[in-house]
Formats: sequence, C-alpha cells, structure tokens
Amino acid sequence: MIVILGCGESGMGAAMLAHKLSMPIFLSDYGRISQDFKSQLIDKEIDFEEEGHNLVYEFLPDFVIKSPGIPDQSEVIKYFDQKGIKIISEIEFAFQYCKGQIIAITGSNGKTTTTNLLYHIMKNSGCDVVKVGNLGYSFARSLAESSHDYYVVEVSSFQLDSTINFKPHIAILLNITPDHLDRYENNFEKYVFSKFSIAKNQTENDYLILYKDAVVMKYFSSMKINAQTLWIQSELDQEGKVFINGKARFNFNHTVLKGRHNAINVSCAATACEIIGLKDQEIQEGMYSFINDPHRLESITTINGVEFINDSKATNVDSVFWALDAMNSKIIWIAGGQDKGNDYTSIEDVVKNKVKTLVTLGKDNSKLIEFFGDYVPVIDTHDMKTAVHKSIEISERGDVILLSPACASFDLFNNYMHRGDEFRKEVLKIKSETRK
Ligand code: ADP
Repeated sequence: MIVILGCGESGMGAAMLAHKLSMPIFLSDYGRISQDFKSQLIDKEIDFEEEGHNLVYEFLPDFVIKSPGIPDQSEVIKYFDQKGIKIISEIEFAFQYCKGQIIAITGSNGKTTTTNLLYHIMKNSGCDVVKVGNLGYSFARSLAESSHDYYVVEVSSFQLDSTINFKPHIAILLNITPDHLDRYENNFEKYVFSKFSIAKNQTENDYLILYKDAVVMKYFSSMKINAQTLWIQSELDQEGKVFINGKARFNFNHTVLKGRHNAINVSCAATACEIIGLKDQEIQEGMYSFINDPHRLESITTINGVEFINDSKATNVDSVFWALDAMNSKIIWIAGGQDKGNDYTSIEDVVKNKVKTLVTLGKDNSKLIEFFGDYVPVIDTHDMKTAVHKSIEISERGDVILLSPACASFDLFNNYMHRGDEFRKEVLKIKSETRK
C-alpha cells in the first residue's frame, strides 16, 4: 500500500492515479482538505484523515508520496525516513507510468510563462500535448485521466527534491536566483543542486537547454551532465526584435510579452520546439497568438495616458528587477508584502534610474522604506485602494503604474492572485468612473 502526505493538487492527483492502478492508498493531511477534494476521495472510496497526521503512523507502506509543500524536517517525513521507507514526489510517481515524451521546465523565475508558451506553440502546431505540474494540473492526475504524446511539465525545486528516476527527454533550466532558501538550510548551493537535478538521469540521447545565467554557468562544470547541452543567449533590441544566439528570430511587438526576461523564456521554448521538429513558421505563429496567464506583467488598461501593469506574481527581488528593466517609462512602483529575507541591493540601480515614486503596500513596510527611502520618494500604504488612488494622484501622462511586489502576499491577501485581482478591480473601477 502507499501513503500520500498532503492533499493539495499533487497529492490528490497521485491518489487518482494510484486508484486507477488499483493500489491501496491512505492519504493524510495536516490541514483541512477542500470539500471538492474530499468528495472525490469519498466517491472513489479512498481512506484519508485530515487536520493532523495521526492514523498514518499505523501504516507500513511500500512507499510514501509527499506533497512539495512538506519540508524534509517535518516530523512525519522524519518518521518514515527513519523506518527506511522510500519517499518520493508526485512527479516521480507519475513518471513511472508516463509513456509520452517529457519536456520539463525549471528555474527560479519564468517556469509558468515558459511552460504555457511551449504548450501553446505545440498545441497550435497540432501536437498531442498537455501541460502539467507546478502550474496546477498535476502530472499524476493527467495520467489518470488520459494519455498524450507530449507532457510539458513545470517542476519546482521542491518537486525535484524527491525524484529518483525522473528523466525528461528535454529539460529547460531558465535561471537560478536565491528563493525559498528557508527550505535549503539557507544554503544556496543546495538549492542550486536541486535545480540541476532536473538533468541527473538524462543520457546523451536527451537534451538540456540552459540559459546563460551567471549562476547556471558558474555551477555547470561541477555538475555531472550527460545530456546534449544547448546554451542559450538571448537579446531584445529597441525595435522589439528577439535574437537567439545572435540570430534575429521574432518580434516582440507582435506578442503580448514584454522585457528581456521574456525574451529568455521565448528563446528556450523555441529551442525545445526545434528539437521536437517544429518549423520556424509554426513556432512564430504560436508565439504571436500566445496569451500569458494573468499577474505576470499583465497590462490592465491605460487611464489618461498612464498604463497600469499587474505583476503580482513577482514575489522575489529578481523578478522585480526584470519587470523594472522591461519598462520604457517612468515608473510608479507598488511593492511590499510579506518579506522573505529580501536583499534589495541588486535592484538599487534600476530603481534609482527608473522609479519615480515607491508606493509601499504591506502590513509592515519598514524594510522597503529603510532601503529606498533616501533616494526615492515613498508613499506608505496598507491597502490596495489607497495604494492605487495615491499612485494615480502623483502620476503624469506617459508614466506606468506597476504592481511588482517582491514579497509574498499573505499579510494582506489570500495569495498573489487575490492581490493581483484586487489591483485590477480597483483600476477598472476607476476607469469606469472616468468614463461617466
Ligand atoms: P514561475 O512559475 O517560475 O514563478 P512565472 O512565469 O509565473 O514564473 O513568472 C513569475 C514572475 O517572474 C513574474 O513576475 C514574471 O514577470 C517574472 N519572470 C518571468 N520570466 C522570468 C525570467 N526568465 N527571469 C526572471 N523573471 C522572470
């Protein structure tokens, strides 16, 4: 029998696949299980417990599948580990039953965008493809429901950590910047190692696409890589042309994407498409008809010549760097929230050059104010409505008002989506009032 720890989308997906394979399962969640998931479990007669790991200790499973959210240091993980029971991630479990070709994408930032983009280009070109993983539809659930030729899998470092045999045919490593270090004993190298483990089982018949990110380049030589490696260098010129390894390939003005960071995502996705044999024209058509998920440099609207951009998904300093870098106007920058041990040094220069005013939005904004207060005017706010109104008050035609928080959202919002939705709602309310 198998024990599944954590009943989010990945645990639930694992349960669905295990059920389909007629494996006996016990599922245990420390918190509450959503009503929808509970009904699915009851419907399939799968045993579970919630609001505490209690009964789970009575089982001696063949292996344990753990949710990416559960740290290795947690009591329940230590317990099964000490008993010598194999602990794997849902990605690893699903991998054993996947007959299609896997293209896996990891990195500190840009995973979802690149996954969506690659999926869209492939689908648009007529491939039988599905997108799964960290972005919300678990790999295991998809296998329980249907089978496809290609799986575009977004993988986080937490998901990679408990893999053993997981082996994508094509892997993309976008970048590595400090994030989630609390889960890696504040040891950056451990996090780097985790990201590179996407390639640990690849052979010379597989491909590893790497962006020439400083950290990726620095650590590459100390990793054991067997795959064929493809290094990507990408540039974006003033006219919106994207160059991949020196060759002009796309025009950003025909896409919804902005910024040099998205040129990197586009370049890596296009390279994967070439490996599977798509033609230039197919790649271009997919690129130009792509619509990104909300909350990632999402242009909401323009009011009196001021553009509003929702980048609520920017929950770390690096993604804010790229957001600020992507703007061609003076920026009123709305930032703040729950601090994750941020070091703002890397964005000091771009803030000095481009930010007109910083509007802080969080319960406690002291860290941001202390860091930037000496050289950028700051308006301190603690709710979305005030943040948006104050931003508009000081804005001038041609400015951009950018929500790119660098922090988690949980101090004031349910999650980054809620934060972005509130921003959009507030902005559109004002827009409709200006029309009256
Ligand atoms: P992830 O799934 O890795 O969190 P997303 O595609 O959801 O990545 O984007 C998260 C944030 O990172 C957004 O603010 C986005 O604008 C920014 N971003 C996207 N691609 C990159 C990249 N290649 N490098 C740095 N930041 C990026």
